[in-house]
Amino acid sequence: MSAETVWTDDHFIAGDAALDFANTVYRRTPELGADLLNSAGSLTAWLHHAKLLPPPEAGRGSVDDSAAALAEARHLRQLFWVIFDAQIDGRDMPTDALAGLFDQACRGLVSDVAIGPDGAMTPFTVHGGLTVLALQGIRLVLSPPPQPVRACDRCGWFYLDTSRSRRRRWCSMKTCGNQAKAARYRSAHPTA
Ligand SMILES: [Zn+2]
Repeated sequence: MSAETVWTDDHFIAGDAALDFANTVYRRTPELGADLLNSAGSLTAWLHHAKLLPPPEAGRGSVDDSAAALAEARHLRQLFWVIFDAQIDGRDMPTDALAGLFDQACRGLVSDVAIGPDGAMTPFTVHGGLTVLALQGIRLVLSPPPQPVRACDRCGWFYLDTSRSRRRRWCSMKTCGNQAKAARYRSAHPTA
C-alpha cells in the first residue's frame, strides 16, 4: 500500500484546477507512472491543497473519504484525459466523455456546492469538490481561455500555456525542463 501523497505547489503548475487534477499521476507519458491519487486520504488532501474543500476545522458538511469517492475521482480524471488529449490533438470533443462530466457535475449540484452570483463555486464536501472540478472541466472545453491547453513533452502533464510566445514545452523548468536540458547536454557531450 503506497503512502499518502504529500501535495506541494509543484503538483499545481497547470494554471487550472481541472488540469491539475488530471496531473495527479507521476507522469502520463511515455507510459503511465505511479498514481498519486492513491487513497481516499490523498484525494481529500489534494482537495484541501486546491482549496476545493474547507479546512477540516471549518466543519461545514462532512468529509466523505470513502473508497467510492476515490473511484469517482479516478473516473473523473480518466474523462479529463480523454477530453484534454482530444483538445491538444485538435480533434472534436468526445461527447460521451463530456456527458460524463455533466453527470458528475449534476450529482453534487443540489446539496454539495454553492455558486455565487459571480460564478464563484464553493464545495462543501469531497463530492462537491469533484462537482466543481467537473464544472471547471466543462468550462475549459466549452468556453476555452485564450491560453491553449498543452501537455509536457516529457511527462505528459497538462497545463495552460500562458507564455508570451505560446511555445512552452515543459510542465515546469524546475523538473522536466531541467531534465530535458541535462539530457541534451549529455548527448552533445558524451564523455562529460
Ligand atoms: Zn513534465
